[in-house]
Amino acid sequence: MTPPAIVILGAGALATARRVQACYPDARVHGLQGRVEADVAYAELAAHLRDLYARGTPIVALCAAGIVIRCVAPLLANKGVEPPVLAVAEDGSAVVPLLGGLAGVNVMAREIAAALEVAPAITTSGELRFGTCVLNPPEGYALASLTQGKRFVSDLLAGESTRIEGDAPWLDDAQLPRASEARLAIRVTPKAWDGGANELVIHPRSVVAAVSGDSKPIAGQVHAALQAHDLAPLSLAALLAPVARMGDGALVEAADTLGVPLRFVEAGTDGITRAAHHDDTITTSTARRLLEAAMRVPYATLQDDAHEDIALALSRTPIDPDTVGQRRGSLTVLGLGPGSAELMVPAARTALGEATDILGYETYVKMAGPFRADQQVHGTDNREEMQRARHAFELASAGRAVVVVSSGDPGVFAMAAAVLEALDASGDARWGAVELNIVPGVSAAMATAAQAGAPLGHDFCMLSLSDNLKPWSIIETRLRHAAQADLVMAFYNPISRARPWQLDKALDIVREYRAPATRVVLGRDIGRAGASLRSTTLGELRSDDVDMRTMVILGSSTTRGFARGAQGEWVYTPRWYPQGATEA
Ligand code: SAH
Repeated sequence: MTPPAIVILGAGALATARRVQACYPDARVHGLQGRVEADVAYAELAAHLRDLYARGTPIVALCAAGIVIRCVAPLLANKGVEPPVLAVAEDGSAVVPLLGGLAGVNVMAREIAAALEVAPAITTSGELRFGTCVLNPPEGYALASLTQGKRFVSDLLAGESTRIEGDAPWLDDAQLPRASEARLAIRVTPKAWDGGANELVIHPRSVVAAVSGDSKPIAGQVHAALQAHDLAPLSLAALLAPVARMGDGALVEAADTLGVPLRFVEAGTDGITRAAHHDDTITTSTARRLLEAAMRVPYATLQDDAHEDIALALSRTPIDPDTVGQRRGSLTVLGLGPGSAELMVPAARTALGEATDILGYETYVKMAGPFRADQQVHGTDNREEMQRARHAFELASAGRAVVVVSSGDPGVFAMAAAVLEALDASGDARWGAVELNIVPGVSAAMATAAQAGAPLGHDFCMLSLSDNLKPWSIIETRLRHAAQADLVMAFYNPISRARPWQLDKALDIVREYRAPATRVVLGRDIGRAGASLRSTTLGELRSDDVDMRTMVILGSSTTRGFARGAQGEWVYTPRWYPQGATEA
């Protein structure tokens, strides 16, 4: 289940929110910006609740039920997703399930109420009578028809009894009126429902379809193969394909259409002999071999001549897709921004939430946290970039969801280029199959410029003054050309203990071209604790004013400043040049 968003409006609800959070270790508390500090900040309640609802995120709102209803009301007519929505009294005295009866809202209401030591306000009649929602089977099972299900439950409520056919362990404790001769039957079976009115059919997700060929449409063929064996499409637990086809969009589309996860396995050649052990003398198709290699549960293989490229595995119990082959791994290189959570883009936050493994320089990994117990953090030294990039690909090609973090933007003197360099050099097809994404971030130059005003308001360049990976002569040439071209310059890595003289040398070069009055902005630890911003001039600037945590923005001939209220000043570079100005 997706962890719920616990939404609060003020500090008064925080204590109760934390108690609710204890029921769901992955849940985060969302607090109204400016009113309360929580795990996630939001700007406006109605828009935030609608956004969560539309994404199918379960909502536990610690405010009046009426407010919640009014906020999500515009979305209710649309019968799409209906995540659980609950209102909980700020002081924890009431738990009211509002929406999402079939998504387990009552189960959540019971869990939360138990944690708060109150009685949940359950209003669903079937639930009250039977102690469980018969139409909401647990993970691994799917209801064949909701319409039929509702009719079935109303028959039960009218006083009828039911038989149970098949394994339904979750109904063991339900207070259902049972009778072995009953007209009504709850049937747990992978076989397709025949439309019979007297039964409630629940499908265990106990079938895996392996696809070996590439004839299209894949989803249609899987449907046909299931139909040939009288199996319900809802019994499907996963779609399995060879590792070599990891990047194949048609498979992604097919899995989407079928509503199941996609898994991969190396199409080994030892399948033929292993199949012989299963006293199967017929030739083993590639699709069967995939099943042989990927499945850890006992199963029967189903295949027929009409659908050669597809083999089905049928187990007695639901199959957990995580026990079948491996996922397509992913590698996301993301920028955290300069430091504060508000300056991190939402896509980066999402990727961090979905990551199984987080790699990066210790300091940045700490900045990106806190992480859950199930997430593996691999902190390393700042200089081991190539090694980190290769480690990331190794993990991702084994099916992990890997995130590599950089400060600022990952493409600005940071990990994105190292990751691409590693991929470019490797030629390893498994690395190539990894889903690679780069999520941008607010770079130190942008963050510093925004604090100062708009010093980058006209043409500018970004330079790293570090000569660790390039010769100093290149840096000198670039400084000279940039100074000559009257570009504003943003200096990254301006100075360090190992590079003590470079900044002075750089400033000497620039002073050959620019006046001592040229504006300079120094941003140190911008967006972090103890941030400081200074503006000075090229003439006054000393290398002692700068350390490795400083961003130096050196203005052009047109960069100017003016008083900002009582103290400080705004610095900006106008978008135009004075009339008549030509090349310097
Ligand atoms: N990828 C990063 C830059 C890494 S290079 C980005 O896009 O911002 C490291 C240099 O960036 C530091 O030496 C410093 O010059 C600058 N820097 C990084 N974070 C900073 C911050 N919060 N405040 C000021 N400068 C910063």
